[in-house]
Amino acid sequence: MIKKNQRLFIILTSLLTLIFVISPLFLDLLWARPGGGHSFSGGGGGSFSGGGGGGDGIGFLIYLIFSVLPPQISIPLIIGIIVLRLFLQKRKNSDNTTIVSSPGIQARTVRHNNVENAVLQLKNVDPNFSKVLFLDFVSSIFNKYYTWFGTKEFKNLSPFLGQDEFLKSESLRNNQRITEIVIGNMRISEINFYQNITGVSVDIEANYTFETHGKKTRYVITERWYFNRKNGVLSPEPDKMHKLSCPNCGAPVNFTDNGVCQSCGTKINLGEMQWFVKKHKILSQEVFRTVGLAHYEPESGTNLQTIYQSGITNYAGQFAQLHNLDWNSWRLTFADEVVKAFFIKIYDAWSRNKLDNVRNLLSDRLYESFMFWINAYKSAGLTNKLEDITIQNIQFARIDSDRFYESITVRIFASSLDYVVDANGNVRGGSNKRPRTFSEYWTFIRRTGVEKDAYDYATCPNCGAPADKMGQAGVCEYCGTKISNGDFSWVLAVITQDEVYSG
Ligand SMILES: [Zn+2]
Ligand SMILES: [Zn+2]
Repeated sequence: MIKKNQRLFIILTSLLTLIFVISPLFLDLLWARPGGGHSFSGGGGGSFSGGGGGGDGIGFLIYLIFSVLPPQISIPLIIGIIVLRLFLQKRKNSDNTTIVSSPGIQARTVRHNNVENAVLQLKNVDPNFSKVLFLDFVSSIFNKYYTWFGTKEFKNLSPFLGQDEFLKSESLRNNQRITEIVIGNMRISEINFYQNITGVSVDIEANYTFETHGKKTRYVITERWYFNRKNGVLSPEPDKMHKLSCPNCGAPVNFTDNGVCQSCGTKINLGEMQWFVKKHKILSQEVFRTVGLAHYEPESGTNLQTIYQSGITNYAGQFAQLHNLDWNSWRLTFADEVVKAFFIKIYDAWSRNKLDNVRNLLSDRLYESFMFWINAYKSAGLTNKLEDITIQNIQFARIDSDRFYESITVRIFASSLDYVVDANGNVRGGSNKRPRTFSEYWTFIRRTGVEKDAYDYATCPNCGAPADKMGQAGVCEYCGTKISNGDFSWVLAVITQDEVYSG
């Protein structure tokens, strides 16, 4: 027989439990804007990985305790668990705040500078090395790895995968599939020079759908991929890096299990002509939920100092010299005709859940990642509106160039009405009255040797036909030319939130 005060205890603890178990579910997706925390994990307004997940195990544990133990034991035990959880939650929150305080940023900046120095070192021994192209290659590998995982096409990756990685594919059963792979963000996290090989690790934020027995689950993941290459190898030309192809003849990948190209008959040994995947590991994995798409968190990085590339004045000087221009006047033109123009056009398209008109302004990866979010909003019956956008300031934070690409990163300070509406036009999150101030780092890329800064974006820069049929691949339907890789002018390649930007 349960005493009265014990019953009260049970009711109270059940209530508390309910709150603790359910609350993390509401914290899931705390963001808005395509860049605005729409990095796939840990990025934006309210880190994806920090939000969800935590409650899943505890609910079951409490259920178990309730059903197995008598109330005299179970109630104190559960209170204990709740107190512990509160304590952990508090600690986690204080951990989170250190991310935006200066020590966290300093550590990130140090790591970032190490990578930057290593990239310079790599360019010294491999003048063909281009970060843009390397990451293109990495994203192709990642994409094909999962697309072909467990299928017979997987053998086409034989020249790019170490033995262990190559055999993993056999673990997938017939009724399992991985589909709809979207890469959100990629970052070189470390470069190591060993005696005979060079190793580059890349952190990839992505998501994909895992299908088993017809049941689909969407996962948000962060993975670390380790690439190796023998020292002394020159990176292949852009054509062989944009798309996965034979590093010898450039034909689309068609390899035997042993890495022999079916087009040219050459056996591609691991790491002798191209990077290969030594291994990869999952850093975090969560189930993706659209609940919370309309929720807003306060902007957390707007007041942080701008992170400038060290020696940016020199790089600006080199850029000006290379293009025979006056940096200070060019800077203004670029800010106006490219940055502002893109910003307004892209957010306007975003607000209409439709990217057709800006396809030619976006790199493939950014486009895919935008489309992922637009589809997520659409499937939830929502639209994220950004209206009355004003740009307050544009700061030039970084200028990079290599043999094949140049890139410019600017920090954009802007404000706009930012809110989420449902199909009936009801505001479900944010505000359509009070503007929100925010800042973002935008990175534009352009093929080296191209002088054009801007063009009439409504037409194809190659044939002059209307730019209304660029398709998903960013290829002009009238002339068959790919526009979205920076061959004609600048394209937007990356958006990074201020609170996670490290240089
Ligand atoms: Zn070949
Ligand atoms: Zn065209």
